[in-house]
Amino acid sequence: PATSLDQIVALAKRRGFIFPSSEIYGGLQGVYDYGPLGVELKNNIIADWWRTNVYERDDMEGLDAAILMNRLVWKYSGHEETFNDPLVDCRVCKMRWRADHIHGVCPNCGSRDLTEPRPFNMMFRTQIGPVADSGSFAYLRPETAQGIFVNFANVLTTTARKLPFGIAQVGKAFRNEINPRNFLFRVREFEQMEIEYFVMPGADEEWHQRWLESRLAWWEQIGIPRSRITIYDVPADELAHYSKRTFDLMYDYPNIGVQEIEGIANRTDYDLGSHSKDQDQLNLTARVNRNEDSIARLTYFDQASGRHVVPYVIEPSAGVGRAMLAVLCEGYAEELTKALPADKLAVVGEALQSFLKSVGRSEKISAEARDAILARGEELGQALAERLPEVEQLLAMPGVDQIEVGKKLRGQAQPLIDEHYRTVLRLKPRLAPIKAAVFPLKRNHDQLVATAKEVRRRLQLGGDMRTVYDDTGAIGKLYRRQDEIGTPFCITVDFDTIGQGKDPALAETVTVRDRDTMAQERVPIAELEAYLREKLRA
Ligand code: ATP
Repeated sequence: PATSLDQIVALAKRRGFIFPSSEIYGGLQGVYDYGPLGVELKNNIIADWWRTNVYERDDMEGLDAAILMNRLVWKYSGHEETFNDPLVDCRVCKMRWRADHIHGVCPNCGSRDLTEPRPFNMMFRTQIGPVADSGSFAYLRPETAQGIFVNFANVLTTTARKLPFGIAQVGKAFRNEINPRNFLFRVREFEQMEIEYFVMPGADEEWHQRWLESRLAWWEQIGIPRSRITIYDVPADELAHYSKRTFDLMYDYPNIGVQEIEGIANRTDYDLGSHSKDQDQLNLTARVNRNEDSIARLTYFDQASGRHVVPYVIEPSAGVGRAMLAVLCEGYAEELTKALPADKLAVVGEALQSFLKSVGRSEKISAEARDAILARGEELGQALAERLPEVEQLLAMPGVDQIEVGKKLRGQAQPLIDEHYRTVLRLKPRLAPIKAAVFPLKRNHDQLVATAKEVRRRLQLGGDMRTVYDDTGAIGKLYRRQDEIGTPFCITVDFDTIGQGKDPALAETVTVRDRDTMAQERVPIAELEAYLREKLRA
């Protein structure tokens, strides 16, 4: 996994996963655009979530509600009153902060002279229609959930569902976060993947546990093993106003720390009860605001008891951006592609020795440090080649001008590193933005190029397996580029493929290289699609 968020930010920018919004105008804080690879990865995460939670179950329906809703939705959901973060101002530098994130000290100027926290409502407002009077505004939804609750009766009557059943929705949500930060982790515009699962009162606790299990299984399926997720059983005094119990799934993001990636809440009968009329006849257990405006009772007729009940709701709610960030962090690796050959090691060792001698002659270094360095020269040469922590130990020795030494060491080792080192994104194949890349062994050979393009065209025909053609560099460089963006398979068309190689038996076959093992296999073109499809199911 990534050891620093910078690795991911740099990769995301270098390869076109994520760009800051409106970058050429200085950006817009807390807003990001998904680039050519980012949109593919994001769409694949969403598609996998939808497939698992809607298609592969018998108890789910989908929905796509609008972002703009009647303002009353947010009055009765409780958001107008309670969707607040505590805001403080620094009296010294005038910066504003979310109080519970800064521990009483201004992160900008270090002052403790802060105002008392006051509630700041995080919903964005926008005007509806041409007249800007107070009645004509709407909120951009801060969660997708409410679109599901207000459509509960519509879905129930049109699908004739019986409890328990759920409604799934993926869509944009907007929150005017006081301090957006940590890349995709805390932003002002993001996407949520939400399920509202409706159950009989009394069956809620069991279903809450079941959803916990099935959500953990999904995270594992997209590459976040269970062992990497901490389940936080939210204590009563931290629960949201609607929740009876909430499990937060927490992922250990580099630099950011252990943070929520998904919340799984037992929302009781709060939501359907809040949006219903005649609340006093509904036997609600949740405390709700009196609703004078709704024209519906959001109830379910239970045939067994012959009574109308207000279902309880279990809500697994995950952020797409946080999922993507976790998937990128988890899949990221920098590694040696093979053990370094002894002769290469010796070369580096020697180069390093002579370099160290020149360092040793320099005034900048203490005698003690010089002896230590020289004594360990050979060993350090190896360490450098493998980029082991010893290199850092060297740099930390007293009297060593770290920046100078670091630069020179890197300079000497760079060719080796380039040849034997790679960054690889071990994405689950189902999530990879590009499933396969096809290369001609030589780009100036018409028949190799035409054959490679034809192989690529055929793989693309099914429409669901993004395949690219690339001839912009030597094969090694092309492999490296695909490794870095997580492409599971690279396919090379060579002279054997077109019947002009040494082995006639290899005509009409290509080399398929596996991203993770780097193993290569010869596969007949006629079987290529089936071969890849089988492996991509993983
Ligand atoms: P936090 O405490 O981190 O602000 P939250 O508890 O307010 O999050 P929920 O209201 O439970 O978050 O939202 C459900 C999911 O939506 C979160 O688990 C997260 O994945 C995502 N999410 C919420 N706020 C943001 C944000 N500002 N940026 C990106 N994703 C977010």
